[in-house]
Amino acid sequence: MTEKTQNNHQKRQQKLKEKVDERIASAQDEKGVLQVITGNGKGKTTSGFGMVIRCLGHGMQAGVVQFIKGQWDNGEKNLLSNIGVPFAVMETGFTWETQNKEADTIAAQQTWQQAKLMLQNPEIDLVLLDELTYMLSYDYLDIDEVISTLENRPAMQHVVVTGRGAHRRLTEIADTVSEVRNVKHAFDAGVKAQLGFDY
Ligand code: ATP
Ligand code: MG
Repeated sequence: MTEKTQNNHQKRQQKLKEKVDERIASAQDEKGVLQVITGNGKGKTTSGFGMVIRCLGHGMQAGVVQFIKGQWDNGEKNLLSNIGVPFAVMETGFTWETQNKEADTIAAQQTWQQAKLMLQNPEIDLVLLDELTYMLSYDYLDIDEVISTLENRPAMQHVVVTGRGAHRRLTEIADTVSEVRNVKHAFDAGVKAQLGFDY
């Protein structure tokens, strides 16, 4: 690298650093953040659990509510329940093969009651509401109630909601919304769900 290239690089980096520093200095608010992770690509639930681990790693409290009972043994639940993280799973009712709307609605409501307890508890710093979006698209939960519970949660509590097809009202009140796009997925090439990777 010539001296001139090095100087130009340094100048560009300096300018970039000034801009980033300026933006960091101007972001001064502190609040519980509501994040929605939606879209058709793989990585929504695992991203939510990444945030749970991050939170726990700082000695903070996290709680997890899963609105879909997985078909397989749940690696995250095995680990986190063992270390005392409150973990509620919608054990009965809704799966992808759902047939009985009434039973599913009851199960969703029961699970939502557990979520509500967490969303009213200021001791819990972060709540993961995994696959909540489907409970709204299937009308198992009342959107007004979900929105008002989220809006009235403890001011410093973070919430992560995952699932495809997030309701517009949910993304409207969220602070951070990410959409995971499906570029390709091993399943489409015939690879079955892999232990320790997909569940
Ligand atoms: P993960 O739990 O791996 O982060 P996710 O939460 O983004 O995935 P879901 O829609 O909740 O995705 O589906 C969960 C399961 O379906 C996982 O086993 C995942 O590998 C698989 N999956 C996710 N996206 C796709 C896709 N686009 N095609 C096929 N299978 C998928
Ligand atoms: Mg998921």
